[in-house]
Amino acid sequence: MARRKQIYEGKSKILFEGPEPGTLVQYFKDDALDRDNRKGTITGKGVINNRISEYLMGLLGEIGVPTHFIRRLNMREQLIRELEMIPVALVVRNVVAGRMAKRLSMPEGTPLPRSIVEYYLKSDDVEDPMIAEEHITAFDWAGTQDLDDMMALALRVNDFLNGLFYGVGLRLVDFRLEFGRLWEGDFMRIVLADEISPDTCRLWDIKTNEKLDKDRFRRDLGHVEEAYQEVASRLGILPEGGPRDMKGPEVMQ
Ligand code: 5GP
Repeated sequence: MARRKQIYEGKSKILFEGPEPGTLVQYFKDDALDRDNRKGTITGKGVINNRISEYLMGLLGEIGVPTHFIRRLNMREQLIRELEMIPVALVVRNVVAGRMAKRLSMPEGTPLPRSIVEYYLKSDDVEDPMIAEEHITAFDWAGTQDLDDMMALALRVNDFLNGLFYGVGLRLVDFRLEFGRLWEGDFMRIVLADEISPDTCRLWDIKTNEKLDKDRFRRDLGHVEEAYQEVASRLGILPEGGPRDMKGPEVMQ
């Protein structure tokens, strides 16, 4: 049997050709890169992120946010819709942290008076610089209507996830979203892509401000695997025996 075709390999995921036209298989790796591009492994991260992303994308789908997610296939893979990806990522911030704290020289943890949405160009060559709407429309990375749709979806996702995480004692400090275009005949829809997980969100314990996300790896804080498991467990989606207890892989060729 022929091996399936790999379409793309990124920092934390691999995309393979899907079983039907217009679909892809998204494989979640345990690999992680820190800010200095040092490679590392977070054991079990791929399994947990696959499950968390399935859960969150599923709920978002139920409230009417269009997403690329179709279904989880096994521990590390999910079936997704193939999109024409937009090379601009949106970061939604509720609290000052990360690059915003550095850029503006503000203490991490400062609450923002309202949620702020920033644009970043997805480009490893220049390390995803922050860009303005002017750059996006001038270089035709996305149109004004695309941006309006992405902004509206990002704010809806923020409202929903804020409440969801608050309910399990987590503060959604910030997160990054990617979008793509889904063509249905002559009609096009902007659809949420990528993943939503502790790799792409900053999540702090509401009472202690303990970081329960990829910053534990980026900043060498230790207990990295435990943080990912804690998020899944608070969301009620980690089986008792941990990631190993999840349904075994169905090998797709
Ligand atoms: P910052 O801009 O402060 O570094 O990160 C803002 C948010 O985007 C954080 O929640 C962080 O986890 C997420 N983020 C940063 N870099 C990446 C990336 O390369 N991919 C994804 N999906 N999310 C990222």
